[in-house]
Amino acid sequence: MSAETGRGLVLVVEDEKPIADLLRLYLTREGFGVQVAADGRAGLAAARAGHPVAIVLDIGLPLLDGTEVCRLLRADGNWTPVLFLTARDEEIDRVVGLELGADDYITKPFSPREVVTRVKTVLRRAGGVPAAERTYTVGSVMLDPARRTVHAAGQPVALTVTEFELLGYLMRKPGWVVPREQLLAEVWGYSSAGHTTRTVDVHIAQLRAKLGAASPIRTVRGVGYAVDDTVTGADAGTADQPAG
Ligand code: CA
Repeated sequence: MSAETGRGLVLVVEDEKPIADLLRLYLTREGFGVQVAADGRAGLAAARAGHPVAIVLDIGLPLLDGTEVCRLLRADGNWTPVLFLTARDEEIDRVVGLELGADDYITKPFSPREVVTRVKTVLRRAGGVPAAERTYTVGSVMLDPARRTVHAAGQPVALTVTEFELLGYLMRKPGWVVPREQLLAEVWGYSSAGHTTRTVDVHIAQLRAKLGAASPIRTVRGVGYAVDDTVTGADAGTADQPAG
């Protein structure tokens, strides 16, 4: 690894070359490694393959919109900090309104210095540890968002995208009782139309079946679900029936 990547790699997804070049210059000066992708598909591939510490993501991109790139990454369980570049007010509305898991946004025209400052801020907020590298452990269940793996009692567990997202959402809030409506909104998002909280129950049941005795998922009757360190295998086993 060269000295210039000492602070980690920032992925810049921007189709306007002068802007991309300017960002590369300023970020490189600050000690970041910089990779530039000029369209949404290339950006998504680079984000998946390159493990950047942060992504500066333009919204108006060829092939794949920036918001869609972010949505697909989050659906992967990839929580690399994303700083959106927005050109218009309606784009800001989309970023904020869609709750895409954006960490920040900055409006064009911007000063490249400001972008550098914001990148440092999102990294500080992420605890100085690249978000994509963090793992979550509850009891004997370990979830690794970057590698998209789950282990229960040391054994790998194969989960669907939805099961992975559902478990990830609960494991990021250990001890919290999460209402089924909230899980539906957060995990299923836009595709939740036509689903009921029964959908959540069905997926929770499948998750528990796959995790077996290691399942840390507790049913809070009439409300939703929680992930607890204190749940024993026996408790989880008897709670296998959906809450509704
Ligand atoms: Ca653009």
